Amino acid sequence: MCPDCASELVYPVRWDEAGPEHWTVTLRCPACEWLEMDVFHQDLVDMFDEELDRGTHALVRDLKELVRANMAEEVDRFSAALEADALLPEDF
Ligand SMILES: [Zn+2]
Repeated sequence: MCPDCASELVYPVRWDEAGPEHWTVTLRCPACEWLEMDVFHQDLVDMFDEELDRGTHALVRDLKELVRANMAEEVDRFSAALEADALLPEDF
């Protein structure tokens, strides 16, 4: 979570190994442009990674729904055009 604006969209822009159990991670908040580099323990990085995975899955799910909705809309428009005889061979 962003310490400046409390947004939950903070994500890592860069990470480097900092010893056997630590990572140097640069974090960015897309809402307020907060940027910070800090060292985190492996366990915390693993938890963050899982949270990011969940976020990615949610994004992909939303994107698929959006694509499906857009396609349904296109099919509706195409059907309406067909019924109105508004489609001609030169349209293709
Ligand atoms: Zn922020």
